[in-house]
Amino acid sequence: MIWDTHAHLDDDSYKGDFQDVLARMEASGISRVTNVGYDLASSERSVTLAQDYDFFYAAIGIHPHNAEEVTEETWGKLLELAKNPKVLAWGEIGLDYYRDLSPRPIQKEVFIQQIKLANEVGLPIVIHNRDAHQDVMEIVKAYPPRYGGIFHCYSGSWEMAEILLKLGFYLSFAGPVTYKNARHTVEVARNAPMDRILVETDSPYLTPEPRRGKRNEPTYVREIVKKLAELRNLSIEDVAEKTMRNAESVFRLVYTRQKV
Ligand SMILES: [Zn+2]
Repeated sequence: MIWDTHAHLDDDSYKGDFQDVLARMEASGISRVTNVGYDLASSERSVTLAQDYDFFYAAIGIHPHNAEEVTEETWGKLLELAKNPKVLAWGEIGLDYYRDLSPRPIQKEVFIQQIKLANEVGLPIVIHNRDAHQDVMEIVKAYPPRYGGIFHCYSGSWEMAEILLKLGFYLSFAGPVTYKNARHTVEVARNAPMDRILVETDSPYLTPEPRRGKRNEPTYVREIVKKLAELRNLSIEDVAEKTMRNAESVFRLVYTRQKV
Protein backbone atom coordinates (compact mmCIF):
# COMPACT_ATOMS: atom_id res chain seq x y z
CA MET A 1 0.00 0.00 0.00
CA ILE A 2 1.46 3.31 -1.10
CA TRP A 3 0.16 6.86 -0.75
CA ASP A 4 0.95 9.12 -3.71
CA THR A 5 0.89 12.37 -1.74
CA HIS A 6 0.91 14.79 -4.67
CA ALA A 7 -0.76 14.38 -8.06
CA HIS A 8 -2.88 16.35 -10.53
CA LEU A 9 -5.17 13.71 -12.00
CA ASP A 10 -7.75 16.32 -12.94
CA ASP A 11 -5.31 17.30 -15.70
CA ASP A 12 -6.62 17.23 -19.28
CA SER A 13 -4.00 14.65 -20.25
CA TYR A 14 -6.06 11.96 -18.43
CA LYS A 15 -9.31 12.75 -20.19
CA GLY A 16 -9.01 9.83 -22.62
CA ASP A 17 -8.04 7.04 -20.20
CA PHE A 18 -8.79 8.16 -16.64
CA GLN A 19 -10.40 4.84 -15.66
CA ASP A 20 -7.43 2.87 -17.04
CA VAL A 21 -5.05 5.03 -15.01
CA LEU A 22 -7.08 4.25 -11.87
CA ALA A 23 -7.22 0.54 -12.69
CA ARG A 24 -3.44 0.34 -13.14
CA MET A 25 -2.99 2.25 -9.91
CA GLU A 26 -5.21 -0.12 -7.97
CA ALA A 27 -3.53 -3.18 -9.46
CA SER A 28 -0.13 -1.91 -8.33
CA GLY A 29 -1.09 -1.22 -4.72
CA ILE A 30 -1.35 2.54 -4.79
CA SER A 31 -4.14 2.87 -2.28
CA ARG A 32 -4.38 6.64 -1.75
CA VAL A 33 -3.76 9.76 -3.80
CA THR A 34 -3.79 13.40 -2.69
CA ASN A 35 -4.98 15.45 -5.64
CA VAL A 36 -3.53 18.93 -5.37
CA GLY A 37 -5.09 22.18 -6.56
CA TYR A 38 -3.10 25.04 -8.08
CA ASP A 39 -5.92 27.53 -8.65
CA LEU A 40 -9.58 27.81 -7.67
CA ALA A 41 -10.91 25.61 -10.50
CA SER A 42 -8.39 22.80 -9.93
CA SER A 43 -9.03 23.00 -6.16
CA GLU A 44 -12.73 22.49 -6.88
CA ARG A 45 -11.92 19.56 -9.19
CA SER A 46 -9.72 18.04 -6.47
CA VAL A 47 -12.56 18.18 -3.98
CA THR A 48 -14.93 16.64 -6.54
CA LEU A 49 -12.53 13.73 -7.09
CA ALA A 50 -12.25 13.26 -3.32
CA GLN A 51 -16.02 13.15 -3.06
CA ASP A 52 -16.39 10.70 -5.93
CA TYR A 53 -13.67 8.21 -4.95
CA ASP A 54 -12.72 6.82 -1.54
CA PHE A 55 -9.00 6.72 -2.33
CA PHE A 56 -8.75 10.35 -3.44
CA TYR A 57 -8.04 13.14 -0.96
CA ALA A 58 -7.74 16.82 -1.79
CA ALA A 59 -5.41 19.75 -1.19
CA ILE A 60 -6.67 23.19 -2.12
CA GLY A 61 -4.75 26.37 -2.80
CA ILE A 62 -3.24 28.86 -5.23
CA HIS A 63 0.12 28.07 -6.87
CA PRO A 64 2.62 30.94 -7.16
CA HIS A 65 2.13 30.87 -10.96
CA ASN A 66 -1.51 31.81 -10.39
CA ALA A 67 -0.95 34.28 -7.55
CA GLU A 68 -1.85 37.24 -9.72
CA GLU A 69 -5.36 35.87 -10.42
CA VAL A 70 -6.41 35.99 -6.77
CA THR A 71 -9.34 38.17 -5.71
CA GLU A 72 -11.13 38.56 -2.36
CA GLU A 73 -13.70 36.11 -3.68
CA THR A 74 -11.04 33.41 -4.13
CA TRP A 75 -10.39 33.21 -0.39
CA GLY A 76 -14.06 32.88 0.47
CA LYS A 77 -14.47 30.03 -1.98
CA LEU A 78 -11.35 28.22 -0.79
CA LEU A 79 -12.48 28.55 2.83
CA GLU A 80 -15.79 27.02 1.82
CA LEU A 81 -13.98 24.08 0.13
CA ALA A 82 -11.75 23.64 3.20
CA LYS A 83 -14.79 22.55 5.21
CA ASN A 84 -14.95 19.29 3.27
CA PRO A 85 -13.56 16.52 5.54
CA LYS A 86 -11.58 15.04 2.64
CA VAL A 87 -9.57 18.24 2.23
CA LEU A 88 -6.37 17.32 4.07
CA ALA A 89 -4.00 20.17 3.19
CA TRP A 90 -3.67 23.72 1.89
CA GLY A 91 -1.57 23.75 -1.28
CA GLU A 92 0.16 23.93 -3.44
CA ILE A 93 1.47 27.29 -2.34
CA GLY A 94 4.88 28.90 -2.33
CA LEU A 95 7.28 30.74 -4.60
CA ASP A 96 8.51 30.05 -8.13
CA TYR A 97 11.38 32.29 -9.23
CA TYR A 98 12.27 29.97 -12.10
CA ARG A 99 9.31 30.82 -14.29
CA ASP A 100 8.24 34.03 -12.50
CA LEU A 101 4.72 33.86 -13.92
CA SER A 102 3.40 36.21 -11.21
CA PRO A 103 5.37 39.20 -9.87
CA ARG A 104 7.47 38.19 -6.88
CA PRO A 105 5.89 40.61 -4.37
CA ILE A 106 2.45 39.18 -5.23
CA GLN A 107 3.75 35.61 -4.97
CA LYS A 108 5.03 36.38 -1.48
CA GLU A 109 1.86 38.10 -0.37
CA VAL A 110 -0.35 35.25 -1.61
CA PHE A 111 1.94 32.64 -0.01
CA ILE A 112 1.83 34.37 3.38
CA GLN A 113 -1.92 34.91 3.17
CA GLN A 114 -2.44 31.18 2.55
CA ILE A 115 -0.25 30.11 5.47
CA LYS A 116 -2.47 32.29 7.65
CA LEU A 117 -5.64 30.74 6.20
CA ALA A 118 -4.30 27.20 6.66
CA ASN A 119 -3.52 28.07 10.28
CA GLU A 120 -7.03 29.38 10.71
CA VAL A 121 -8.78 26.27 9.35
CA GLY A 122 -6.34 23.76 10.85
CA LEU A 123 -4.64 22.34 7.75
CA PRO A 124 -0.99 21.56 7.00
CA ILE A 125 0.49 23.30 3.95
CA VAL A 126 2.02 21.88 0.74
CA ILE A 127 4.93 24.02 -0.44
CA HIS A 128 6.12 24.50 -4.00
CA ASN A 129 9.59 26.06 -4.03
CA ARG A 130 11.53 26.57 -7.22
CA ASP A 131 14.71 28.65 -7.19
CA ALA A 132 13.34 30.65 -4.27
CA HIS A 133 15.03 28.87 -1.35
CA GLN A 134 16.00 31.96 0.61
CA ASP A 135 12.66 33.75 0.48
CA VAL A 136 10.70 30.56 1.17
CA MET A 137 12.85 29.92 4.25
CA GLU A 138 12.37 33.47 5.49
CA ILE A 139 8.61 33.25 5.08
CA VAL A 140 8.15 29.88 6.80
CA LYS A 141 10.28 31.13 9.69
CA ALA A 142 8.33 34.39 10.00
CA TYR A 143 4.91 32.72 9.49
CA PRO A 144 5.26 29.17 10.81
CA PRO A 145 2.49 26.82 9.69
CA ARG A 146 0.71 25.81 12.85
CA TYR A 147 -0.30 22.39 11.49
CA GLY A 148 2.98 21.55 9.80
CA GLY A 149 3.70 21.10 6.15
CA ILE A 150 5.33 19.31 3.27
CA PHE A 151 8.08 20.47 0.95
CA HIS A 152 6.83 18.84 -2.22
CA CYS A 153 9.37 17.47 -4.73
CA TYR A 154 12.18 18.51 -2.42
CA SER A 155 15.04 19.97 -4.43
CA GLY A 156 17.18 21.88 -1.92
CA SER A 157 20.47 21.06 -0.25
CA TRP A 158 21.03 18.86 2.78
CA GLU A 159 21.88 22.00 4.80
CA MET A 160 18.47 23.48 4.01
CA ALA A 161 16.78 20.12 4.70
CA GLU A 162 18.30 20.05 8.18
CA ILE A 163 16.76 23.42 9.00
CA LEU A 164 13.37 22.41 7.59
CA LEU A 165 13.40 19.16 9.54
CA LYS A 166 14.09 21.11 12.72
CA LEU A 167 11.12 23.32 11.88
CA GLY A 168 8.99 20.17 11.67
CA PHE A 169 8.50 19.86 7.92
CA TYR A 170 8.13 16.66 5.93
CA LEU A 171 10.13 16.23 2.72
CA SER A 172 8.45 14.62 -0.26
CA PHE A 173 10.35 12.92 -3.09
CA ALA A 174 9.25 12.67 -6.70
CA GLY A 175 10.68 11.55 -10.05
CA PRO A 176 13.85 13.69 -9.90
CA VAL A 177 15.30 11.45 -7.15
CA THR A 178 15.62 8.77 -9.88
CA TYR A 179 17.43 11.07 -12.33
CA LYS A 180 21.14 10.72 -12.97
CA ASN A 181 22.04 14.32 -12.10
CA ALA A 182 20.12 14.39 -8.81
CA ARG A 183 23.10 14.36 -6.45
CA HIS A 184 21.68 16.77 -3.86
CA THR A 185 18.25 15.21 -3.85
CA VAL A 186 19.73 11.74 -3.45
CA GLU A 187 21.85 12.92 -0.54
CA VAL A 188 18.75 14.27 1.22
CA ALA A 189 16.71 11.15 0.39
CA ARG A 190 19.45 9.02 1.93
CA ASN A 191 19.90 11.04 5.12
CA ALA A 192 16.51 12.45 6.11
CA PRO A 193 14.91 10.73 9.12
CA MET A 194 12.73 7.85 7.99
CA ASP A 195 9.70 9.26 9.80
CA ARG A 196 9.75 12.53 7.85
CA ILE A 197 9.79 11.46 4.22
CA LEU A 198 6.94 11.07 1.75
CA VAL A 199 6.59 9.84 -1.82
CA GLU A 200 4.69 11.44 -4.67
CA THR A 201 4.48 11.51 -8.46
CA ASP A 202 3.36 15.10 -9.20
CA SER A 203 1.51 13.43 -12.10
CA PRO A 204 1.36 14.25 -14.99
CA TYR A 205 4.82 15.87 -14.52
CA LEU A 206 8.24 14.69 -13.34
CA THR A 207 7.96 11.09 -14.57
CA PRO A 208 10.59 8.89 -12.89
CA GLU A 209 13.11 6.78 -14.76
CA PRO A 210 12.83 4.63 -16.81
CA ARG A 211 9.89 6.51 -18.33
CA ARG A 212 11.26 10.03 -17.96
CA GLY A 213 9.74 12.38 -20.55
CA LYS A 214 6.42 10.52 -20.85
CA ARG A 215 3.18 11.33 -19.01
CA ASN A 216 3.35 10.38 -15.35
CA GLU A 217 0.68 8.53 -13.33
CA PRO A 218 0.36 7.32 -9.71
CA THR A 219 1.41 3.74 -10.56
CA TYR A 220 4.95 5.01 -11.13
CA VAL A 221 5.27 6.16 -7.53
CA ARG A 222 6.63 2.62 -7.09
CA GLU A 223 9.83 3.81 -8.79
CA ILE A 224 10.29 6.42 -6.08
CA VAL A 225 9.68 3.85 -3.34
CA LYS A 226 12.13 1.49 -5.04
CA LYS A 227 14.79 4.19 -5.24
CA LEU A 228 14.37 5.11 -1.57
CA ALA A 229 14.55 1.43 -0.61
CA GLU A 230 17.82 1.13 -2.54
CA LEU A 231 19.31 4.29 -1.05
CA ARG A 232 18.39 3.34 2.49
CA ASN A 233 18.98 -0.36 2.29
CA LEU A 234 15.40 -1.21 3.19
CA SER A 235 12.78 -3.38 1.54
CA ILE A 236 10.22 -1.84 -0.81
CA GLU A 237 7.47 -2.97 1.62
CA ASP A 238 9.21 -1.19 4.47
CA VAL A 239 9.44 2.11 2.62
CA ALA A 240 5.84 1.80 1.42
CA GLU A 241 4.61 1.14 4.95
CA LYS A 242 6.64 3.92 6.59
CA THR A 243 5.80 6.57 4.01
CA MET A 244 2.12 5.60 4.32
CA ARG A 245 2.27 6.16 8.12
CA ASN A 246 4.08 9.46 7.59
CA ALA A 247 1.39 10.63 5.19
CA GLU A 248 -1.29 9.68 7.70
CA SER A 249 0.55 11.66 10.29
CA VAL A 250 1.13 14.87 8.30
CA PHE A 251 -2.38 14.78 6.83
CA ARG A 252 -3.79 13.93 10.28
CA LEU A 253 -5.83 11.13 8.87
CA VAL A 254 -7.14 8.83 11.55
CA TYR A 255 -6.83 5.44 10.00
CA THR A 256 -10.25 4.30 11.10
CA ARG A 257 -11.99 7.41 9.80
CA GLN A 258 -11.59 6.55 6.15
CA LYS A 259 -10.78 2.91 5.54
CA VAL A 260 -9.37 2.23 2.09
ZN1 LIG B 1 2.21 19.82 -8.18
